[in-house]
Amino acid sequence: MSTAQVLADIQELDLSLMRDAGTLEGMPEVRELARKRRAYLKLKGEASHLLGERKDIETDLAELDEDELACTAAVEEAQAGAAGLSYHEVQDLEIRLSDLAKRLDKIAHTRTERTEALAAQTQREEKLTGYLTALERAITEETRQARQRAAEIQERMASHRAERAELAAALAADDLARYEAARTRFNGLAVEVLSGAVPSICRTTLSAASLADLSRAGEVGECPYCHRILVTLPEEES
Ligand SMILES: [Zn+2]
Repeated sequence: MSTAQVLADIQELDLSLMRDAGTLEGMPEVRELARKRRAYLKLKGEASHLLGERKDIETDLAELDEDELACTAAVEEAQAGAAGLSYHEVQDLEIRLSDLAKRLDKIAHTRTERTEALAAQTQREEKLTGYLTALERAITEETRQARQRAAEIQERMASHRAERAELAAALAADDLARYEAARTRFNGLAVEVLSGAVPSICRTTLSAASLADLSRAGEVGECPYCHRILVTLPEEES
């Protein structure tokens, strides 16, 4: 392979490596995944908040049950001792029973309210759990896809690096050094290919005198305008 061809090929590989590195760096899937993971954590926090609220309601309901048992026992106890009471004692008893009945009413009322709150809370939790499950699945699947895509890019980069190392080994040391210097200077676009009288990057048509200079310099020259390495590739056989 001619030095000109090796230089052009190395540049192709380097540009592809740069593109792939950029793609890996800025993979939109990775940003989207980060966004989903943040949303997931936020929802998890909300779910544990809802759970805490439900536990409170359940505690309230358990306390209502205890209150109700105590009231019912007090009613039974009062009724059991009703026989043989004086007029005043019966009046006291009726007041106590009436108070207990009011307390039981209030307990029943509060229980209805708390039971409704529990149902609403449970519904909110179920909705959130469903959303969390869907988000979890999406994150798992998208992570798998992103890893696969990254792995494909990394594989391609590894094979391009190997190919590049082989080509670089085939170049004379000063040609390689010249290429590396131009690559740094021109941000990757170090080598122009001459097509007729027009270099492929700066696209400034060369004068007849410049073309004559170039052909004297051999297959690897320098563009008189942009000073990139200018190569002439042998015509491809069709
Ligand atoms: Zn040029």
